[in-house]
Amino acid sequence: MPANHPYVIVGAMLTGAKAAETLREEGFDGAVVLIGTEDQLPYERPPLSKGYLLGKDARDSFIVHDEGWYSDNNVDLRRGTTVASIDRSGHRVTLDGGESVPYEKLLISTGASPRRLDIPGGDLDGIHYLRTVGDSESLSAALRGGGRVVIAGGGWIGLETAAAAREYGCEVTILEPESGVLRRALGPEVGEIFADLHRSHGVTFRFGESLAEVTGSGGAVSGAITSSGAELPARTVIIAVGVAPNTGLAVDAGLEVDNGIVVDQQLRTSDPNVFAAGDVANAFNTLLGRRIRVEHWGNALASGPLAARSMLSKVAVYDWVPYFFSDQYDLGMEVAGLPEPGTYDDVVYRGDKDSLEFIAFWLAGSVVVAGMNVNVWDVNDDIQALIRAGAEVDVDRLTDPDVPLTGL
Ligand SMILES: Cc1cc2nc3c(=O)[nH]c(=O)nc-3n(C[C@H](O)[C@H](O)[C@H](O)COP(=O)(O)OP(=O)(O)OC[C@H]3O[C@@H](n4cnc5c(N)ncnc54)[C@H](O)[C@@H]3O)c2cc1C
Repeated sequence: MPANHPYVIVGAMLTGAKAAETLREEGFDGAVVLIGTEDQLPYERPPLSKGYLLGKDARDSFIVHDEGWYSDNNVDLRRGTTVASIDRSGHRVTLDGGESVPYEKLLISTGASPRRLDIPGGDLDGIHYLRTVGDSESLSAALRGGGRVVIAGGGWIGLETAAAAREYGCEVTILEPESGVLRRALGPEVGEIFADLHRSHGVTFRFGESLAEVTGSGGAVSGAITSSGAELPARTVIIAVGVAPNTGLAVDAGLEVDNGIVVDQQLRTSDPNVFAAGDVANAFNTLLGRRIRVEHWGNALASGPLAARSMLSKVAVYDWVPYFFSDQYDLGMEVAGLPEPGTYDDVVYRGDKDSLEFIAFWLAGSVVVAGMNVNVWDVNDDIQALIRAGAEVDVDRLTDPDVPLTGL
């Protein structure tokens, strides 16, 4: 193996920047090259559909590190640069400009990209996808102009942008092919709570319908046609139908890819010098006993550091409880675990769900497999401890707000 070549990180956002930070924190003093397509300092994406979209958060409030950090820590940040290919036998990556960069260890943290809809009218002005800071800025400008908004997709991005659009005073219709929102993320019971929240803020849902066509006038969006043929006037169309992991480099390099780059509990690919983390990785979680690919901020925050430790041959494993948060209107929540349909039997509540101040627990038998605290704070660690324990609980005590979660 070539010694003294740099440790190269492809993908310079939260996962990649956190990996670079951890390499230095762990005392690695060799060269680190962090390469990213976006011409920005690495930043966190959650504000793009919340505070930044609403014009409330400052641009520099969600960068991972300021510019000086990279030079102070001798991290060679190559912004606006795309890695075109990986040569595993030659231990090199080739950049889009043709330059070749050797590596000793390589981390792929290329994230995910919005799924695009190939539909008639799909490239009219006024159609928005949301992934980058630039996307958020152009959507913010569009929403500020008011008018009718049609959103394809009732997932997290669809719902958060709906909340922002309502705050801007837009009329909002969400098209969702399934029979409710967030079905795959939370199941029907809790998904319905979010649908009710949005209805109470004036959002219209059309379930069982998808976006079939966007109509235009003078090159700009004028309406949306749904799969059932309904014609909805619209000034803005937001397409939020999920993301796909950016696995092209890994496929071309002959790495195993199956819904993301396949890695073990130390985020190692089958090549001992190549690692993957963040949204792009389908990683073995030892707590759940299976591989998962999650598109969560908390996973980027933790898996970048884990990958860095693995690159340094330090033993640490992917054993944490998946964590997600969202803010919509005046509802703030955190989810611990993966409450996907098929993984639980029942949902029970601590507190009054109509008051939007409660904790939901997803149970398999009487074992807590996931929990969501809504407008109740400082309890997520306790929920995670319940999930990690994997023990049967007394459901009456679990749902009794007077019984501490630590005393079940
Ligand atoms: C609008 C929005 C809101 C979100 N809100 C939340 C939230 O509230 N809660 C939550 O838990 N999660 C949220 N997320 C998810 C969270 O932001 C992601 O899980 C996180 O950004 C993943 O980080 P990453 O570094 O793995 O990937 P990414 O953020 O996708 O970064 C990967 C980077 O790699 C670059 N890249 C790709 N290919 C190459 C290449 N060949 N060469 C060089 N660079 C390349 C990409 O351009 C990109 O900049 C949100 C995401 C979005 C888009």
